[in-house]
Amino acid sequence: MSPRIPTVTLNNGVQMPVLGFGVYQVPADEAERVVTDALAAGYRHLDTAAAYENETGVGRAIATSGIPRDELFITTKLWIQDAGESTAAAAFDRSLDRLGLDHLDLYLVHQPYGDYHGSWRAMEALNREGRARAIGVSNFHPDRLVDLIDHHEITPAVNQVETHPFFQRGADQAVMRERGVQHESWGPLGQGRDDLFTHPVLTDLATAHGKSVAQVVLRWLLQREIVVIPKSSRPERMAENLDVVDFSLTPEEMTRVSALDTGASTAFDHRDPASVAFLGTVRFDT
Ligand code: NDP
Repeated sequence: MSPRIPTVTLNNGVQMPVLGFGVYQVPADEAERVVTDALAAGYRHLDTAAAYENETGVGRAIATSGIPRDELFITTKLWIQDAGESTAAAAFDRSLDRLGLDHLDLYLVHQPYGDYHGSWRAMEALNREGRARAIGVSNFHPDRLVDLIDHHEITPAVNQVETHPFFQRGADQAVMRERGVQHESWGPLGQGRDDLFTHPVLTDLATAHGKSVAQVVLRWLLQREIVVIPKSSRPERMAENLDVVDFSLTPEEMTRVSALDTGASTAFDHRDPASVAFLGTVRFDT
């Protein structure tokens, strides 16, 4: 029996499970197996993207699972090459087609580059039509987030940004809270970089609770009211990452993890001109 995952109410009333399953870097030919295992483990919230090139496999796993559509929360994302008011809706249709769905629970602007204001107008229309129950953004620093909010009608329901013990985003989260945007973490386990799984503070807390480092980190994020979407291709880790609702960290333990913040990305600096230029050249068969 998998644990019951709580939900958070987004700014438009939609309920989002606070713990989901990410599929970045899951190869297309493994996606169906991996997502089938994740659904069997108990995940009901899936996070993919057109750019991950695995939506078809994710869709096959959803179809064969037999799980009622209204018990699932499915997110995908619009890639930069499809940014713009006239192109975003067609990219949305292609994603839905690959996923084999007639609506999404959450559609995100994947990156804050190109004509994302145009994309947002198209996504507002999809949201009003009910084809995307919620719309949001990803990788938006607070300045761009506020700019988007202040010049459009619909406030993003979610901002999915890199967040983990080494890059905690406290100031970003304050702006999101003030503006009613749900903070969602990508790379909640730091993508396994910088020896996160053997960090002495994290292993100490894991030992104290009879839990793993991954479970402590996910619990720490959830206690900060941040939605998490860990990825694993291994069924035993899928189950482990779900099993984080039966314990809690004390305020002192939360503070010990807070002290690990470096204030910098361990993966990708979304404000570095060279990185921005590079991402703008990356194209996928979306
Ligand atoms: P994660 O922080 O989820 O880390 C995944 C890595 O940790 C994998 O190498 C996995 O290995 C390993 N791992 C998972 N669970 C455990 C465990 N319990 N013990 C030890 N190792 C573990 O990184 P992701 O980059 O995958 O981020 C999560 C999701 O966020 C993505 O899948 C994607 O959906 C989203 N994302 C969004 C981005 C964006 O730009 N919007 C960017 C990046 C990610 P193994 O599979 O072998 O278990």
